[in-house]
Amino acid sequence: MSVSNSQINISRRQLFTRRKDADKPNLPWVKNQLFTDVCTQCGKCSNACPEKIIKSSDGGFPRVDFHQGECTFCYQCAEVCPEPLFHPKTEPAWQVKADISDACLAKRNVDCRSCGDSCEPQAIRFKLAVGVVAQPQIDIDSCTGCGACVSVCPTNAITIKNL
Ligand code: SF4
Ligand code: SF4
Ligand code: SF4
Repeated sequence: MSVSNSQINISRRQLFTRRKDADKPNLPWVKNQLFTDVCTQCGKCSNACPEKIIKSSDGGFPRVDFHQGECTFCYQCAEVCPEPLFHPKTEPAWQVKADISDACLAKRNVDCRSCGDSCEPQAIRFKLAVGVVAQPQIDIDSCTGCGACVSVCPTNAITIKNL
């Protein structure tokens, strides 16, 4: 059976998307090494999330989308999952952190502190500098990876990922 060019293009695109998303979080507390083998894509986690941030990602697997809101670490996604896919709530939810790209307005010398205002643990501090507006700096140890800073950023400069 011959494979068309469009099929090749689609599979290349899927591969690229998977690589691009490889360092982004799936769900809090999830056992990442089991995820694609054990998750049945039943959608119960997505329905249970009070913040409505769990979306169907590439391949149909659930993934948090911080453009819709933040994770409050309520553990409800883990509680409703019928599969043995989640670590106990007593363990850390995940190791992901916020990362600010060069698209940040402050890096272009435009005053903006929206992300800092939305960060409850105060992990984003603004450092004064000579000749430029205050620059955001993330305290990695304080960042919980909640994603509250993502949707408020006017230039989409923040990504939550494994650093
Ligand atoms: S812990 Fe709660 S807020 Fe976070 S993804 Fe799960 S259900 Fe949604
Ligand atoms: S909200 Fe976005 S543009 Fe504004 S300071 Fe934070 S990262 Fe930069
Ligand atoms: S992910 Fe949450 S804790 Fe981390 S910098 Fe953004 S708002 Fe603050």
